[in-house]
Amino acid sequence: MGAPGFAEPADPLSLYTTETPPQAESALTSAPTSVADEKPETGNPDVNPAPPPSLQTLDKVSDTPATTAARTDVPDSTAPQEDSQAAVKTPPATAQTETSEAAPPAEKSLVTQAETGPDKEVIEICNRIGEKLSSVSAEECLNAAFAPPRFYSNHHLPLLEKHFPASPKREDAPRILFLGGIHGDEYSSVSISFKWLKILQESHSGVYDWHFMPLTNPDGLLQKKSTRVNANHVDLNRNFIPAETAIDPIEHWQTYAKKRARYYPGAKPLSEPETQAIHLLIDELQPDIIVSVHAPHGILDYDGTITPPRNLGPLQLKQLGTYPGSLGNYGWFVKQIPVMTIELKHAGIMPKQHDIDRMWADLIQWIKQRTEGDGTLLARKESMREKKPTL
Ligand SMILES: [Zn+2]
Repeated sequence: MGAPGFAEPADPLSLYTTETPPQAESALTSAPTSVADEKPETGNPDVNPAPPPSLQTLDKVSDTPATTAARTDVPDSTAPQEDSQAAVKTPPATAQTETSEAAPPAEKSLVTQAETGPDKEVIEICNRIGEKLSSVSAEECLNAAFAPPRFYSNHHLPLLEKHFPASPKREDAPRILFLGGIHGDEYSSVSISFKWLKILQESHSGVYDWHFMPLTNPDGLLQKKSTRVNANHVDLNRNFIPAETAIDPIEHWQTYAKKRARYYPGAKPLSEPETQAIHLLIDELQPDIIVSVHAPHGILDYDGTITPPRNLGPLQLKQLGTYPGSLGNYGWFVKQIPVMTIELKHAGIMPKQHDIDRMWADLIQWIKQRTEGDGTLLARKESMREKKPTL
């Protein structure tokens, strides 16, 4: 079926004549360079100067780019220790204030898995993420205690997953799928996913069910010069199954996108292992909402009929419509799952800690509001349940 009460624009591109607003486009293309230029001034306080010996050993195995050129994600101005403690001591989310239920067993499993094999891949990629992003250290990545990898990129890098289950008493808890870094050169979208994941790890209450995949395009990020596209030169955010009413993604790319390489949708939908993984994950989790983080448009975008928040911290709601093959197009117009797209202001500069906390608090507040009464995420779940036999 189509999109009840929320018609797709006949021509999504009529909303903007180029694929990205002019200033956003220039920020996108210049991000890696300008960020690298900025780095010497700001330093690199979020990364441990020397990773633990075991990580250093693995470091040599992975083809880590030159450190100075590679660290392109500029940290916010707050001291790192204060940042992490702020996240621990004052979780901004009022709905998530109980002690962690998920962290202890997860930490335990990290230790045992490290000896059995799969976790070696997690250690390797965490090490590379720590080398690449100045706001995320290898240690912080490892502390997230990711599950043994199930999905891989073209270059066989694991797509890290972390599940924060709802407490068993809450069978009908809203499920949230959270995706970062689908565009490999939007560094802040990966870093902030780790920051929010950390908040959850410290304060997950079991009220909601969260599934995090903070770096969905590791091949795009983890190379000397990070790219929006994946290793196959595909824009993953154009590689999903398009809505029936949408223009064919290839046709769209050839005409509206003027065959620009950075928007290439791939030979066919789901041609890429990364999009296949997300596709499977959506089917597996049946999330009530998908949250995807991008940069640098500096807005909050939303596809769905449930009333979206007006803002998320400093980001104001601005609904842009969707492109054929994008996650928003697939999530809402094919699967009827609302998709919230958080577009951070800068690809290479992290928001201030205050704004990171505000955005998270606003997200939790909105989810809380939208799980009570009519017209809510749970109401949507009920209607999906009724529809299921006919699907
Ligand atoms: Zn993006």
